[in-house]
Formats: sequence, structure tokens, C-alpha cells
Amino acid sequence: MGAGKSRAAAALAAARGGRALDSDALLEERLGHSIAHEFQAHGEEVFRAKEEELVCALLAAADAGTVIALGGGSVLSPRVRSALALHLTVLLDVDVERAWGRAQGAERPLARERESFFTLYDTRRPLYEGLADATLLWASAASGEYPVFVGSGLLSGAGWSDALWPLDRAVSRSFCVSDETVAQLHAPPPGAVQTLVKIPPGEAHKTLASAEQVWTGLVQGGMTRADHLVALGGGVVGDLAGFCAATYQRGVPVVQVPTTLVAQVDSAYGGKTGVDLPQAKNYVGAYHQPAGVIVDPDVLRTLPVAEFQAGWVEVLKTALIAGGELWERVVADEPAGERTAGERTMDERTILACARTKLQIVAQDERDGGRRQALNLGHTVGHAIETATGYTRYRHGEAVGLGLLAALQLSGQDALHAQVRELLLAHGLPVKLEGADVELVVEMTRRDKKRVGERVPFVLVNAPGDVQIGCEVQPDALRAAVAELT
Ligand code: NAD
Repeated sequence: MGAGKSRAAAALAAARGGRALDSDALLEERLGHSIAHEFQAHGEEVFRAKEEELVCALLAAADAGTVIALGGGSVLSPRVRSALALHLTVLLDVDVERAWGRAQGAERPLARERESFFTLYDTRRPLYEGLADATLLWASAASGEYPVFVGSGLLSGAGWSDALWPLDRAVSRSFCVSDETVAQLHAPPPGAVQTLVKIPPGEAHKTLASAEQVWTGLVQGGMTRADHLVALGGGVVGDLAGFCAATYQRGVPVVQVPTTLVAQVDSAYGGKTGVDLPQAKNYVGAYHQPAGVIVDPDVLRTLPVAEFQAGWVEVLKTALIAGGELWERVVADEPAGERTAGERTMDERTILACARTKLQIVAQDERDGGRRQALNLGHTVGHAIETATGYTRYRHGEAVGLGLLAALQLSGQDALHAQVRELLLAHGLPVKLEGADVELVVEMTRRDKKRVGERVPFVLVNAPGDVQIGCEVQPDALRAAVAELT
């Protein structure tokens, strides 16, 4: 209740060229009165029997394009649950406070009292999780809304299928961009994409030259404006393919299929796309929200340990911004280096928490005018280190880890600085700057594209969950914070 199922189902069906059905609305139509009235007049048991009959009939008749928003209690019926086994079932993620905010006061017999609503949420959640093939986060930003599907095994199962795909493949063909490594390990199944354009892996290839290679490949593959792009890979592929999608024939949709930890917890969401210039990072780009994001944590099992560790820094950054439960979980996280390759995946709850944090911020401020700048925590010095070292010495996450230390030093948070330093060390991450001198990093920081005149605004931290944007930092203090890394 209050998750926004009716709205999400309608938007998803529209994007996929199918139809949306809402079991509660259809039941009220059939009853000739409200569900609240039915509860009052005949009791819950009679209502559930009628609901079961209707939902089973809807499921039996549904074709592949149909999206059904199910009444929250309908899955209490074993008959409905077995009928669902033949369909793709997604759990629309909502936190209980938000659900209560939407449901209370509405004419819902089970949303009259806060305490019992919260209890119901807790009791039903495990049932929903057990039934769902994936969790759905509904992302919204000023320029559009899109689904984010998160589920282990999605890419070896329903992830590439029309049943889950966020666009209508009958009218829009999929053209895929990936890098050579990912294309070899996690290629789309035969027939899922029209053309696969491969770029060499790594940050050094997030360039205009690669963009040209992609645009050319798309022209050669016959891509039109009706088609869409799929970004299959890490943040480099996501940023590059997103940028190519934003610009190819003045813009085609992009579906992000992230395969690294960085991309699954951060870069696939929010619509920032672009490429680097030799002079500065992410200097050419566009805002282009995805048409959908499909996340399968299982693909992380093939990620080299160093990439996993680097990606973990974005989890750490997000946890510093979000605080609370995510921070506690991250502090207690077992380092990836202590796990075997097959065990190295990320808990779905952590991925969802990171995605939720980012999406909530982007929903308030898509274009970095204010609140979104919080997501740059650690990135101002981090990006400068990447540029100063020619995009080859440090992985993005590793550079951001050093940037986080600089930001905490500038924040005057000695205890938190020491704790984050220990966490970075425990997770096999660098805590020392090598390969660039302090002055060069300071100079590159001045080039940050967020600068206003001569001023580069910094994100500083008061405590986990309490960050401050737009902070002024004196040149000497910055120099000292970077020097502290050497
Ligand atoms: P990446 O894309 O270069 O991937 C790292 C390496 O992992 C590559 O060699 C790749 O081939 C390999 N790889 C990817 N998936 C794999 C898998 N499942 N198994 C085995 N190998 C795999 O780097 P990244 O760390 O994912 O992303 C970094 C980039 O993301 C940077 O350019 C950064 O600027 C960008 N970024 C963008 C945003 C945003 O909001 N747009 C946010 C954060 C970071």
C-alpha cells in the first residue's frame, strides 16, 4: 500500500507499448463500490475470496506486454502465488514512512492506524521478497522517470527478456555498447541486441575518440532515432554510451546494464554522462537520464578483486552521505580481499540502499544546482588525482578514496578521518598519493568543472549522514590536505 504501484505500472506499460491493469481498481469496478465498503459490509474474508478470483483471472489472461499492479494483500492467497510463478514478479521498493505518508487518510481499511500499518509492512515484506524475481526502484528526476530493476541472476534469466525490458522492442531495437572484457564475460544472449560495439576497457578510453568509434558503429549498424542504446559495462561504458545516446541523432534512449560495483551502486543512475579530456575529467558531456537500469549483482563475481575494492569506495562515500543503517553496514563489511572470487558479490540490500540514496538526491536536484553536489564528496580531489596521474595510475574508486581522506582532513574530522583511513587500508585501498606532486593535484583541483570563478566549492562532512555542500576552502588548507596524502 502506498508504494505507487498503479502509477509505476501505468508508466512501465506505456514505455513498453503494453497495457496496465490495476487489480484494486478493477475489483472496485466489479463490486460497484469501494474496497473499504466491501470490508465493512462483508468482512475481509469475503473480500479476499473475490480478490483472489479476479487476480487469478487477470493473471491467466495477461499477455507479455501487460503490467498488472496487484493489490498488496492479494499474494496472501496460495492460489495467486502459484499463478504468479508463470509471470515475472517485481517488488516495488518503498520505505515504510513514505508508504504510510501516501496511504494514510486514503480510503484504505488497512491504513487507518500507523502502528498496525507499520506491523503489516514488516510482516508482508518477507513474503513479497520471497515472491519477487527482482526489486523495482522507481526513479524520478525533473526530466523523466524510469525503472531500476535489481535482482540476482537477472542477466542469466529474465533480464534481457521482453518481459522485463523497459522499452518496447517491437518498435525500438537494442544496440549495445560494451568493453572487450565485459563483452566476453557477459555478452547479451543471441538475438537480444542488433549490434554490439566494443571499446577497449579502462578509463583511458573514456574519450571523444571512443565516442566517435561508437557513433560510427551505430551508423554502420543502421541505428535510427526509434532505436535505443544499451550500456553494458562499468562506469566507463555507462558514461560513454550514455553520452553517445544523448548525442546520436540528437538523442536516443539508453538502458544502463551496470557490471561493476561502481556502476551498480552509483554511476548507472542519475543521468550524468560524458567523456574525459586529457586536460580534465568528465569535461564534455550531457545529462541524459536512462530509460531503465537493470542490475544483476551476480555479474560482480567475475570482477577482479582490485576493481571490487575500488568500487567499494563509492559504497563508502554513499554511506558517509546517507549515514544511519547504510553507514553501520559498510563499517562492518567484510573486505573483498578476504573472500574468494565466487563469493565476491554485493548484498542486494546495500546496492538498493546506495541506489535509493542517489536517486532521492537526484530527484531533488537533477542538474547539480544544490543538493546533488553532496554526491561529489571526495570527488573534487579524487578527479584531480585521476587527471594529474593521466587516468592510468589509480582506478576511479581508488582516487576517490584518497579524495575522501582529503575531504575529511579539510572537514577537521580527525576521528572519522582515522576511521575511514583504517577502512580503506582494511579493504586493500591506497591511502598514499603517488605519481603526482602536490602542486599538480592542487592545480588540477582548480580546474574542477564545479568551480565558480576562482572558487571550487567543496563537500565537507560533519558526521556520517551530515554533509555540507558549497564549502569554501582556502588554498593553503587544500595544499596541506593534499600534502597529508603523500
Ligand atoms: P570501468 O568501467 O573501467 O570498469 C573497470 C574494469 O572492470 C574494466 O576493465 C572493465 O572491463 C572491467 N569489468 C567490468 N565489469 C566486469 C565484470 N563484471 N567482470 C569482470 N570485469 C569487469 O570502471 P568503473 O570503476 O566501473 O567506473 C569508473 C568510471 O565511472 C569513471 O570514469 C567515473 O568517472 C565514472 N563514474 C560516473 C558516475 C556518474 O554519475 N556518471 C559516478 C561514478 C563514477
